Amino acid sequence: MRKLFLLLSFLGASCPAFPAETPLTSLPYTPGLDVSAMDKSADPCADFYRFACGGWMKNNPIPPDESRWSVYGKLAWENQRFLWGILDGLAKSSAGRSAAQQKIGDYFAACMDEAAVEKSGGRPLKPQLDRIFRMKSKRDLPAVLAALHLETGAGGLFFRFGSNQDLADSTSVIAFAESGGLGLPDRDFYTKEDAKSKELRARYAAHVARMFGLLGDPSNAARREAAKVMEIETRLARASLTRTQRRDPYQLFHKTDAKGLKALTPGFDWDVYLKTAGLSRLNVFNVTEPEFFKELDRQLRSLAFADIKTYLRWHAAHTSAPFLSSAFVNEDFDFFGRTLYGIPELKPRWKRCVALVDAQLGEALGEEFVSRAFSPELKRKTLHMTSQIEQAMHDELVNLDWMSAATKQRALEKLHAIVNKIGYPDKWRDYGSVDIRRDEFAGNVARANLFESRRRLAKIGKPLDRGEWNMTPPTVNAYYDPQMNDINFAAGVLQPPLYDPKMDDAPNYGNTGGTIGHELTHGFDDHGRQFDAQGNLKDWWTEKDASEFNDRAQCIVDQYAQYTIVDDIRINSRLTEGEDIADLGGLVLAWMAWKAETAGAPSRDGLTPEQRFFVGYAQWACENHRPEDLRARALTDAHSPGKYRVNGLVVNMPEFEQAFSCKAGQPMVRENRCRVW
Ligand SMILES: [Zn+2]
Repeated sequence: MRKLFLLLSFLGASCPAFPAETPLTSLPYTPGLDVSAMDKSADPCADFYRFACGGWMKNNPIPPDESRWSVYGKLAWENQRFLWGILDGLAKSSAGRSAAQQKIGDYFAACMDEAAVEKSGGRPLKPQLDRIFRMKSKRDLPAVLAALHLETGAGGLFFRFGSNQDLADSTSVIAFAESGGLGLPDRDFYTKEDAKSKELRARYAAHVARMFGLLGDPSNAARREAAKVMEIETRLARASLTRTQRRDPYQLFHKTDAKGLKALTPGFDWDVYLKTAGLSRLNVFNVTEPEFFKELDRQLRSLAFADIKTYLRWHAAHTSAPFLSSAFVNEDFDFFGRTLYGIPELKPRWKRCVALVDAQLGEALGEEFVSRAFSPELKRKTLHMTSQIEQAMHDELVNLDWMSAATKQRALEKLHAIVNKIGYPDKWRDYGSVDIRRDEFAGNVARANLFESRRRLAKIGKPLDRGEWNMTPPTVNAYYDPQMNDINFAAGVLQPPLYDPKMDDAPNYGNTGGTIGHELTHGFDDHGRQFDAQGNLKDWWTEKDASEFNDRAQCIVDQYAQYTIVDDIRINSRLTEGEDIADLGGLVLAWMAWKAETAGAPSRDGLTPEQRFFVGYAQWACENHRPEDLRARALTDAHSPGKYRVNGLVVNMPEFEQAFSCKAGQPMVRENRCRVW
């Protein structure tokens, strides 16, 4: 899922290549296989990505308020414009609105009232700054931190605290204490020693100093304060696991009782923290990274009290900046948009406001989206495709030659236990207790954060809600959750051009079928395979089968490690391993399901059905990037760039070689093919 700040911090202005944006009353149609997106002058056996996506890349320059542009991104933008139309209507007229419609309509109205937001300047931040200012000693930290965590919902203040399923018992929801405390998007930004990383850190520190300037600090003091923030965050970053290490669930599983938690951080009064968060009497915790909390304890002891306050002030300002006046918004964008991701312009206000309603009241907005844009017919068709892909996986498992009968049995149990969630939740979230006012934007943000923080914490010790979604319905994305053992396809991703009911089967199976297969395969990638049918972290593999799996996965890791992302940066294929395995496994399953469903389909647009399957697959991944975006994603994104999600995959499928009559020795023909599933 995308980070909130990414959703918040961009904007477009008028530029001839990018016409003025308007709200949409219906979703535009783009065909599931778009011949104009292809570059038929390219040789599919030399560079299939260019063949399938060359036209798209040429015709779709990156808008000035985006760091990248893609088929997914463009569809998300269309969904946003459609939501804009809905919200505009609900904001303008209060007649006959339901309680949920009042909330999203008034939230949007308050967010769009730029004059009022401008007039309030940095004042909405004052209650938080006052709370920090009034601290008398380090003893006041736990209570202040708990309040700030609840109000901001952010993990930027020293650590994260929330709830999740117990990794050993997926039916039980327990408290999670996790690493956090950073301003930059990943710990690696603090530790890498190359020239570009050093320059980025210098510019980050300058940004932090300017934010202190906006809080009224003189420039000398602001620079000293920024240096202190850098020092604290760097120490926290060094004590945090890398993203690759975090892919090992055992490294993130350290269950302890209250006594154990206190022993890790004797300098921090957890009783006060938990009481302030409304969580007295908790006695089961997962401390995901104990070493991080030991370092946190060392820091809290050794830091001067004034420096702790400095650090808190920075994070309070950083978290709230997008909701304050333009001075804060622009400074925040200047670093987190322009410098970090190379984006020239801030997103227009409507886009930031739609994204915020989606982030904070997403299911109320999603209900409006679904009633207009997701028909029962579409749900039925995509559900049918899902069961066919599952059948393909069943057949695949039964016929697998490298797995013992015992492990196969467990794998089939897991496959059949997977729950398919399509489009939207059966039961909509009730935002009844969130007070949304038409004239108080920042207040609405804080109250919605508080609602969400409390909602998450309230799950601790309660029966698990298996119907819950971690993605809002308009989102153009899907996910597999290993602890729920479910696959989730938001309504936003089941639209043309990704799923096109008007199109022939081949591109639909290549595209959406491939995505369904991808999510299903996540249950059996290097990470997902460690969870059983019940969603518990439990090894159900024989030693030999596990080693057979690892050999096959290693082939993928070695293959993707060869690909260059930008400059001299290669794919960190230990990080992208699960996604790369899911891409390949997913398309193999989609192919099987398509072949079982369809026989003797006609050629169209000069392409055979088999070619249409592969072009349909590739065209979900057409994209353009800014180099800054590629550099940042090389550290943070578990997905390989689109080009390799296509070319790196088809080289492993003999069906592709056959479909395009490629010859040995051509770039899209690999001698030693990888195949996991
Ligand atoms: Zn994935």
